[in-house]
Amino acid sequence: MNHKIFAALSGVIAAAGLTNAALAASPRVTTQKLADNVYSMDVLHYNSLVVIGENGVLITDPANPFRAGLLQAEITKLTNLPVSKIVMTHEHYDHVGGTGVFPEAEIVVQENFEMFMDQDPLGMLPTRLDVTFSESMSIDMGTTTVDLHHFGPADGIAIAVVHLPGEGIVVTSDMYAPRSLTRGLFLTDSNLLGNRQFLNELATWDLNYAISTHSGDMSVSHLIEGAAFHNDLYDAVYPAIKKVYEENPAGLVDVVIELGETVALPQYESWRNYQDLGEHVRKMGFAITHGG
Ligand SMILES: [Zn+2]
Repeated sequence: MNHKIFAALSGVIAAAGLTNAALAASPRVTTQKLADNVYSMDVLHYNSLVVIGENGVLITDPANPFRAGLLQAEITKLTNLPVSKIVMTHEHYDHVGGTGVFPEAEIVVQENFEMFMDQDPLGMLPTRLDVTFSESMSIDMGTTTVDLHHFGPADGIAIAVVHLPGEGIVVTSDMYAPRSLTRGLFLTDSNLLGNRQFLNELATWDLNYAISTHSGDMSVSHLIEGAAFHNDLYDAVYPAIKKVYEENPAGLVDVVIELGETVALPQYESWRNYQDLGEHVRKMGFAITHGG
């Protein structure tokens, strides 16, 4: 989840009562060509990958019906082919709505997504899942190859990292943001050990663009910095936790709470939301001592 979600949600709510005048003022989609047949489309705080294949179009995270309609209109400027595959980067409900706008599309998810299908009081999830994978799968679009990878829990438990090896493009959600900490209150379903594991792996890949879904800035340097932040956070808490575990395992909860008050990472003071560092410290501490 992300601090901009509430802003995006209010956009959707406003959209529900759209007048013609409001429609005319519809948010502009920022489309960028990343490689042959590969685009990013950034609108309403979500940046979707768009891959034009031989017989259809693959997109990531339509987010909600209103935004999906904007994507659909923008895609028809590039091709007459229908959206044939929608890949969900993870299960968080703000990312996965709007699939009804693309009736011909197969919904592709990591298999843990299935666990949430009967826990959806607002009806935000897709009504069906068509393709699931466990650790990895490869999609041949005819024009290029789209690989999906899952290394475990991170922000959610049904993570699908989208990788275009030929173009050096990767898509993740909610594991890092450019020179910014995630707001503490949005860390509820983030496993920071998992984020660290994913980002350290991705930081070794040969990439030209790294899309983090809530940002239009696709510089790979932000992914590298996100990995470094998680490593510095881990290094700031692990030694103290290990010492307590060896001397008095009953003190683990107390030491994690205390570290949340005392740890500082001054090299990140200029990052947005640095004031929420304590919550990151505790989330990392509990990931180490408790899992999840
Ligand atoms: Zn999320």
